[in-house]
Amino acid sequence: MDVILKSYDPLNNEKLGEVHVSSPDEIKNIVTQAYKASSNWYGLGLDGRLAFIEKAWSGAEPHIQELAQLMSREMGKDIQRAGGETSGTVHGGPYIAGEAKKALCPRSAGRGTTIEYRPLGVAAVISPWNYPLAMANNLIVPALMAGNTVVFKPSEETPLVADLFVEILNRVLPPNVLQIIHGCGEQGKILVESQVNLIAFTGSQAVGKEIMARASKDLKRLIMELGGNDPMIVLEDADINAAARFAVASAFENAGQMCISTERIYVDEKIADHFESEVTKIASQYRTGPWNMPGVNIGPIVNKAQHEKVVQHIKDAEIKGANILLGGSDQVLPYIQPTVITGMTTDMIMENDETFGPVVAISRFKTIDEAVSRANNSCYGLGAVIFGKKAAKKTATRMEAGMVGINQGVGGGGDAPWVGAKQSGFGFHGSLDGHRQFAQVRVISG
Ligand code: NAD
Repeated sequence: MDVILKSYDPLNNEKLGEVHVSSPDEIKNIVTQAYKASSNWYGLGLDGRLAFIEKAWSGAEPHIQELAQLMSREMGKDIQRAGGETSGTVHGGPYIAGEAKKALCPRSAGRGTTIEYRPLGVAAVISPWNYPLAMANNLIVPALMAGNTVVFKPSEETPLVADLFVEILNRVLPPNVLQIIHGCGEQGKILVESQVNLIAFTGSQAVGKEIMARASKDLKRLIMELGGNDPMIVLEDADINAAARFAVASAFENAGQMCISTERIYVDEKIADHFESEVTKIASQYRTGPWNMPGVNIGPIVNKAQHEKVVQHIKDAEIKGANILLGGSDQVLPYIQPTVITGMTTDMIMENDETFGPVVAISRFKTIDEAVSRANNSCYGLGAVIFGKKAAKKTATRMEAGMVGINQGVGGGGDAPWVGAKQSGFGFHGSLDGHRQFAQVRVISG
């Protein structure tokens, strides 16, 4: 029986299209085909693979607008953001591939020893819906450059944009080097349990743990970029306006549906009144609305379940005594109106878990030690941000996070890795070290 996955516009639930859900036999067959294609793909060498990637990704350039519109309609982000993500994906592919080539060239370790980077075999790339092309691209490109073939499973929320992107790339790539399967968690599980050698995953912490448990049977290689609950500390001598602008922009980016979105803010009580009123003033200028309406900067929440989760977090904070300066739990689908909460306490869900909605949640501190201790009291460790002057650098060194921003957001520049600490990640991508994780390291002596 043909099982269908339908894709809906989160704005009005209009059906946008559908894809065929891959059956267990089809997934097995696709992985087998990927294996068969792998030796020829590896045989092209780094330069041959780079040339294919450059040609395939540049073939997507004329489709940037089409892809961006589909992305906007499938997951709700406004067209400027979708355009930026799509263009970054299409132009970033060859850039990542070029960097990966540098990382994967054989190199001498001295004393007649050479280090080589060989393919692992078939890589499963499993991705989320919030940045449906960028997140997948960050894993697909280095996996291919390392000589692996790829079986890609996009999120069930964004199958159409993923399908179109892969179809465009496959006009150039050799057959079965990059294949796509569709479905939900069930198809992800089947892929993880298949004969793939590497699982490169971006998604939630809970699913990351499930994947790790399943992959352990064959000790499959894992690269996992997982959820976060990023703290921000605002010190006494911070530029209050700059801190407030950053706090709101980061908390509301992509309707708050961003892994490194600022989820918890700890502000020195000496400047808290001023900071909170600046935040509220800035937040009240944000507008919810559809992807193609000018001036909109918060789109619809991706689906009803996610909307309910955000409302539940806000309601929990209200019940436990938070002050609502803007918005609140009285929200109507598909939007979450910009919300600002103060008086966040350690027992609230939003202090402890990822909310993933346009909510600024603030708590006051008396000492920097207290702020650092609350910021670090989390199983997550993706990003952390410090605003301030005198003690900012020292405070930054105390943060238990993979990426720390001082008076700016995280994720720096150049070819820095994208990396989470604690339970926000396992392995990482980007940078020479990151690209090498997609390969089997081999040491040849003599
Ligand atoms: P999710 O974990 O629910 O799903 C991600 C993907 O995994 C989807 O394709 C899904 O179908 C698949 N999947 C679900 N169950 C599976 C299973 N048991 N085995 C294999 N695959 C399975 O995440 P989501 O809701 O799509 O995305 C949001 C989450 O992703 C947030 O937690 C966010 O912080 C995180 N994220 C992290 C980063 C990062 O770089 N660290 C970037 C973007 C998103």
